[in-house]
Amino acid sequence: MLADRIGIPQLRDMAGRSERVVTVIELVELERIADLFNQEWVDGKSANSGHYRLQVEAQFADHGRGFPELVCQVSGILPLSCQRCLTLLDWDVALEFRLAIVATESDLDHVTERFDAVVADEHGFSLVEAVTDELLGSLPLAPTHNDRAQCADVEEYIQAVPDDDGAAHKEQVNRPFSNLATLVGRGSRTDDMDSN
Ligand SMILES: [Zn+2]
Repeated sequence: MLADRIGIPQLRDMAGRSERVVTVIELVELERIADLFNQEWVDGKSANSGHYRLQVEAQFADHGRGFPELVCQVSGILPLSCQRCLTLLDWDVALEFRLAIVATESDLDHVTERFDAVVADEHGFSLVEAVTDELLGSLPLAPTHNDRAQCADVEEYIQAVPDDDGAAHKEQVNRPFSNLATLVGRGSRTDDMDSN
């Protein structure tokens, strides 16, 4: 049912019954953030591997405010790329968000500021889309391994630079990392000097 969109009448019904939906979102359903996944991992394994998936608990409610409310908890692990060393990074997801689900743009006026609101148009509401939006809002621009020791390639690069012919090759290999670091405003130069 997650892949399906839920119409407003059904949402009101679910909210009236305080329905709780417990389900799993597989990676293949997260189409809009698929570009963030580590490509080597995606190429090498089934994108449906059980290690990487999201558990979702969605509690619908009607608190008499005139629109269905949703409190949603999301947990799990995503296969991102470390922006320091570009290798696979297990990214822990732990999100909770609360949404007001309204039928039209004009209904947004009735939603108090305590809520984020989503407009379910004629196509209805999609839990996967709502979770994807929250993920996009919460993921860092440049996720990295917590422990630098896990970024072996970068250490290798730093060691290799003062050397001879091999250095040029390694520098090229690691250039995408340097560019990304610059893009997000985190120069790697200071780190390099610290390590030397
Ligand atoms: Zn790393």
